[in-house]
Amino acid sequence: MPPVPIPTTPRLPQPPQAPPFKALVIAVTTRAIFNLEEEHQLYLEKGKEEYVRHQQANQDRPLPPGTAFAFIQAVQYVNKKILESSPAEEDLFDILLLSNNSPESGVRIINSAKHYGLEISKFCFVSDEDSTQYLKSHGVKLFLSADRTDVCNALRRGASPPPSHEVQAPSTQLRVAFDGDAVLFSDETDQDLERGKGGLNRCFLPSYPLSSVLLCFQGPMKAFAMHLGKIHKKFNREECPIRTYLVTARSGRDMGIRAIKTLREWGLAIDEAFFMDGAPKGPILAQIQPHIFFDDGLHNIQGARDMGVPSAWVPSCC
Ligand SMILES: [Mg+2]
Repeated sequence: MPPVPIPTTPRLPQPPQAPPFKALVIAVTTRAIFNLEEEHQLYLEKGKEEYVRHQQANQDRPLPPGTAFAFIQAVQYVNKKILESSPAEEDLFDILLLSNNSPESGVRIINSAKHYGLEISKFCFVSDEDSTQYLKSHGVKLFLSADRTDVCNALRRGASPPPSHEVQAPSTQLRVAFDGDAVLFSDETDQDLERGKGGLNRCFLPSYPLSSVLLCFQGPMKAFAMHLGKIHKKFNREECPIRTYLVTARSGRDMGIRAIKTLREWGLAIDEAFFMDGAPKGPILAQIQPHIFFDDGLHNIQGARDMGVPSAWVPSCC
């Protein structure tokens, strides 16, 4: 078979470049943004050489979208809306694509991004066991991967979590849903309650004034949610291209006041909050149709997956 030519200077999509320290940098792996399951299987069964040969032979065939695809598309839609109203704005989303592919097998990835018009500012092809070491130097605030080892490595370096499943949400308004405990808020809220020594019990008593309710501690996704909230505030409510949701298994009775007071103190406006009182989250997520749902409970991730909702597990430890 004749060798497959590799373009020496592939034309990369040219997104609006956001300065690294103002931008909300999201790193996504190739297996999260594109569906590479077939290719990954080939890699596992036949090895790297065969995988590279396959990717080169198919370099002009776009990869199908993966779990994080619609989320990235929706993020780009928000960038577009920001720039429409404020062309000099620097506070944008910035997408970095991280890949364990070597550059010679990465042409298909670049061509696929180009095919779908994805605005990805940086492509990092690192033939490295642990590509997450590059996250910190790029100021990454959110890391989406389909590989648990990647996520654990990233967590040790101070970034965030991985997705799973079909994408149904349209790429217009960006919809992001967060769990409460151990995601937006710390899991210390749970521990406090179990130990019976926190301020949560005070929430049960309607006679307690709001000022006496203790705040929740911050969780692993607070920083990302706050940055999202900052972009949210650039728009008036009717025209905002971002919609955020809190979907917690807690009841409004035990968690509602505390959560709402905490969000208010943080200055974080969540558009809708659902206190499910132990009911499954899947049905409400199916109605919301978020581009991504973050939860620390694998049963909730499974529930979201069963409804075809893209979900990202937020591990508390690895
Ligand atoms: Mg939780």
